[in-house]
Amino acid sequence: MKILITNDDGIYSPGIAALAKAARQFGEVRVVAPDVEQSSMGHAITHSRPLSYKRSPISFEGLEAWRVNGTPADCVTLGTHLWEGVDAVLSGINMGPNLGNSMWHSGTLAGAKQAVLLGIRGIALSIPVGGTEPDFEALHPHVVEVLEELLPRPGMCLYNVNFPVTASQGVQWTRQSVRQYDGRVSPIQDPYGRELYWINVAPLEAAEEGTDRRAVEDGYTSITPLRLDLTSEAELAKELEVGGVEKGKG
Ligand code: MN
Repeated sequence: MKILITNDDGIYSPGIAALAKAARQFGEVRVVAPDVEQSSMGHAITHSRPLSYKRSPISFEGLEAWRVNGTPADCVTLGTHLWEGVDAVLSGINMGPNLGNSMWHSGTLAGAKQAVLLGIRGIALSIPVGGTEPDFEALHPHVVEVLEELLPRPGMCLYNVNFPVTASQGVQWTRQSVRQYDGRVSPIQDPYGRELYWINVAPLEAAEEGTDRRAVEDGYTSITPLRLDLTSEAELAKELEVGGVEKGKG
């Protein structure tokens, strides 16, 4: 199995090293990641300038590794173009959760989504980060467990995996929490007294039962199966029905 690994924290992140270490027992692994952090860049692609593909100064214990001056989606497009026959794309392990609404902004998830757009299955993996870096050694068996579960699945699957802060109590299959959040804007001043702004988000309501947010809050590893079709089936069916009735009357 050929496994391409990317992330949005950049090639120097300890999270991508932890993912590469766990993935290598499942097949041939290559790392293609942004040369600088691309967190919250979502599914952006670079089309107004060309991209470079350079050897990484980090060895990843002998794995081939490349850095790209672009987004996670760029890395997947370029990486699968220059390495034919990739079976799966893994993105992460992100230093920070990608739960609920943050899926819309996540560059980590976009790496996995881009894989599915190209006809390859994609798995995004994230973990919350507190005051200290996550204990990736302790997380290792949990990452392996998730990959054992998800990698052999056939088809163009897309999964969003989120680990809890501390040792996982097990895996829970969840749906995305889509409650509203507060798009916080915090003003600060630069050393010259000029006003600048930090943009942040905070959920407005508690996590619902059965969601990704709740599972991680309860200490479980959350796996959310996703699809790319955003169509609201219920509303579309209603509109088509109304249209059909009017048409019938006419
Ligand atoms: Mn990130």
